[in-house]
Amino acid sequence: MTVSSPVAADRPDEAFALRHDPRYRTLGEAFFTALAPDRLSTSPVLVHANTRAAALIGLPEHALADPRFPSIFSGQTPLQGYEPLAMVYSGHQFGQWAGQLGDGRALTIGQVRNADDALWDIQLKGAGKTPYSRFGDGRAVLRSSIREYLCSEAMAALGVPTTRALSVVATRSPVLRETVEPGAVVTRLMRSNIRFGHFEHFHHRGEPDRVRELAAFVIDTYHPELDGLADRHRLWFDAVVTRTAHMVAHWQAIGFAHGVMNTDNMSILGDTIDYGPFGFLDAFDPGFICNHSDHTARYAFDRQPAIALWNLQALAVAVHSVVPWDDINASLQSFVERFVARYAALMRGKIGLAAEEDSELVTDLLALMRRGGADYSLSFRLLGTTDENPGRARWTALFNDEVRPAAFRWLDRWQVRIGEVHPDFGAVRAHMDARNAKFVLRNWVAESAIRAVEDHGDVATLDRIFRLVTTPFAEHTPADAMFAAPPPEAMRDLEVSCSS
Ligand code: AMP
Ligand code: MG
Repeated sequence: MTVSSPVAADRPDEAFALRHDPRYRTLGEAFFTALAPDRLSTSPVLVHANTRAAALIGLPEHALADPRFPSIFSGQTPLQGYEPLAMVYSGHQFGQWAGQLGDGRALTIGQVRNADDALWDIQLKGAGKTPYSRFGDGRAVLRSSIREYLCSEAMAALGVPTTRALSVVATRSPVLRETVEPGAVVTRLMRSNIRFGHFEHFHHRGEPDRVRELAAFVIDTYHPELDGLADRHRLWFDAVVTRTAHMVAHWQAIGFAHGVMNTDNMSILGDTIDYGPFGFLDAFDPGFICNHSDHTARYAFDRQPAIALWNLQALAVAVHSVVPWDDINASLQSFVERFVARYAALMRGKIGLAAEEDSELVTDLLALMRRGGADYSLSFRLLGTTDENPGRARWTALFNDEVRPAAFRWLDRWQVRIGEVHPDFGAVRAHMDARNAKFVLRNWVAESAIRAVEDHGDVATLDRIFRLVTTPFAEHTPADAMFAAPPPEAMRDLEVSCSS
């Protein structure tokens, strides 16, 4: 293990002295290309950074205010001793084999260990071209960087396994998309950047030895509990299946649609990665398509569990030289069961119940929400206020006129059942409030943060929204409640696509 204490190039001090442990490099150059970030002709400026993510890599709070921070976390000032690299991977995009992809606009500038010895990759997204950029410019626009930044931290606060985001730095260099847009670099912290597509890459190139090497690396680095076990490959694949099933169960429970579940966007550790045209449900529509470029609805909200299994099958093909087929099949066959068990438990928790038989109440509620056009997040959050008449009225008002009488009947049924198992409604409400977020990163909310920054240089609104979505279970102030609401009329039809 190489551990050094690097500092920003020119002025040595302790602010950026992290515990560097560049493990991925030990795999050798078949797995990456070492290269420096592109130079900018402008001086980057910090848009937002957060102490919670900083703490994960042992970066002290004062480092965020350090004048060198924007330069370091846009790739302009190297951390001494660190050697940035872009990883190679391939993948299936929208169900088709796409061949080699790789980090086209992401550079891992280093891997560091925190005080708990946990390993984190520090990755700059939007820092310039790499050998894997294909036709892209290696850049990211401010808009998509703010979305990734907010969503990473929001998901973490919701308890979903995810990559994290340290900062957004505006490059002050223009980036050409459909129009000219301001550029930015978002710094991601990832437990690992290794994707299903890494394994597919070497399998489809006919290099099973490299597949084996990569599997050994992942097991060794991220599954120390499997160290030395004879059937560690089987157990590893099985763990990937479980983690993926649980990740997607979480997505479904909170009403999150990823939008681009290509195999190159699937983390081998079961973390949510690559926030692009994602969306949170407003009115409950199981067929919700958040990615405007998804013309066949492949990645619609309710298809996500099936797609996760499809992606695991693609991974299975890629690792079958390492994991016996019988073991692979046994794991894949239990995917649905694992997904359903976790999903059902999360959903029952959202309505304050735990017994398996209570899943029927969940199913019936979801059917009413769909028919009644009820807002997904508010249907659960406000259910916890229905012990009083004003709360009952507010909750049933979420459903359209046609469905409202049935919603009242469902509420009566639910209250009878709650009364049977919980003598104290106050405790039920606390339980539900800890599971039903008031503030999710609705598209219109993310867009409000983006417009404030882009149009008015107003970081205060971004900061306010950041605080709300990263403490999503708190009530906050009556003035904040507007950001818990469905989209206002003018922001109902926002379109988000892969272009970012
Ligand atoms: P995504 O749809 O964001 O998962 O990206 C798919 C592939 O395209 C990955 O290999 C990305 O690195 C690459 N890519 C996306 N945008 C760009 C860009 N602006 N410049 C270079 N490569 C990109
Ligand atoms: Mg990607």
